[in-house]
Amino acid sequence: MRTSSTTGGATDAPRLIDLFPATAVVDGGELHLGGMRATTLAEAFGTPLVVYCRETILARAHAYARVDPDALVVYGTKAFPNIALMRLLAAEGLGADVSTRGELEFALRAGVPGDRLVFHGNNKSDEELRAAAAAGAFVVLDALDEAARARAAGVQTVLVRVTPGIEAETHRAIRTAHAESKFGLVAGDAVAAVREALAAGLDVAGLHVHIGSQLTRAAESLLAVERLVDVAMRCREELGWSPRVFDLGGGLAVRHSLADTVPDAEEFARELLLRLRRHWHEPAQAIFEPGRSLVGQAGFTLYRIGVVKRTAGVAYAAIDGGMSDNPRPQLYGSRYEALLANRADEPSSGAYRIAGKHCESGDVLIDSVELPEPRRGDLLAVPATGAYTLAMASNYNGVPRPAAVLVADGEAELIRRRESLDDLLSAEPSNQG
Ligand SMILES: *Cc1c(COP(=O)(O)O)cnc(C)c1O
Repeated sequence: MRTSSTTGGATDAPRLIDLFPATAVVDGGELHLGGMRATTLAEAFGTPLVVYCRETILARAHAYARVDPDALVVYGTKAFPNIALMRLLAAEGLGADVSTRGELEFALRAGVPGDRLVFHGNNKSDEELRAAAAAGAFVVLDALDEAARARAAGVQTVLVRVTPGIEAETHRAIRTAHAESKFGLVAGDAVAAVREALAAGLDVAGLHVHIGSQLTRAAESLLAVERLVDVAMRCREELGWSPRVFDLGGGLAVRHSLADTVPDAEEFARELLLRLRRHWHEPAQAIFEPGRSLVGQAGFTLYRIGVVKRTAGVAYAAIDGGMSDNPRPQLYGSRYEALLANRADEPSSGAYRIAGKHCESGDVLIDSVELPEPRRGDLLAVPATGAYTLAMASNYNGVPRPAAVLVADGEAELIRRRESLDDLLSAEPSNQG
């Protein structure tokens, strides 16, 4: 059987393949990506392994770039901070959105130029403000006392983050623009922050909004654009200042399961831009900050199946990872799909619960997924794990974090090596290695 991500079909595998990166195909019963067999990747690099598709990342970057050649697109670094990926994006003209000293370091080492860096954070330290200033980043003011602190740290150019008072349709942990959000400034305070920043002698370039992550529709984001323009109009009236930059944030979702529906990235960004242009008629540059929608679907995780067992009501297949490499099911109730990468064209033999190897009953990656009878040694491929998995990974239970590879044209580049036991113990002064 040969199926591709575009042809679709009647069995489960061809539909599931749509959740995988663009170059994923099932050929001879095996999952391939970028011209490489999943089994080859697992043997060469071990498991768990996060596999990224270069073509998919580039296609997403180009989709955002097409919306407006004058817009700045900055990668939401926290989705997966990685120098190789950020270099790839920087070469396409993208910048980086960072929110800590550590994320800034990834961007700097990837060679992202200062005029393409946006530095966020609801509680930036003086050290972070100084580092952002030294890098020449846009600093996004998030509190009323931050203008003076930014000025003292040597910051030149700032944006002001507006809290538009909108409840995004997503998990409450990743909503950021409701009236009680810890992020940004409500309209009146945003105007005051612009006034104080101007008085402090800062170059106030514009306004910023980001309403949350894993957004599955545009409605709330469009409303946020209108609220942002409202604040801009108040600034123009009250301060005689107009933004030259509107940073419209990120947040577009990726599909993790067949039940999810998600807007197309290019259409989503274009709609936001059109809404901005309809309400704000002075020239202004747009910034987009996609994280998840650039790298989420571009990555999938390969696990090796170990123990398979039945309890009274449930058939379990256990994998060699779990909540230490992907805590999203526990944090957000995220639902994933999976297929057996080495026997991807065999019919399902029933529903299995995919358990991790951690000492918690809640360490379940997938509550129920249809699979061919799993056996020890099979490879489980879980799609759409490119964002907020490795980035949120931990060493819980003393488990070293997995490796990641970037695959294209029949070749795999190691972009993050698997942690060793020495890595695990490296912060302990009493470890006499
Ligand atoms: C997290 C974040 C992003 C990226 O969000 P995604 O959902 O990954 O697109 C962009 N901007 C800000 C301010 C963020 O906090």
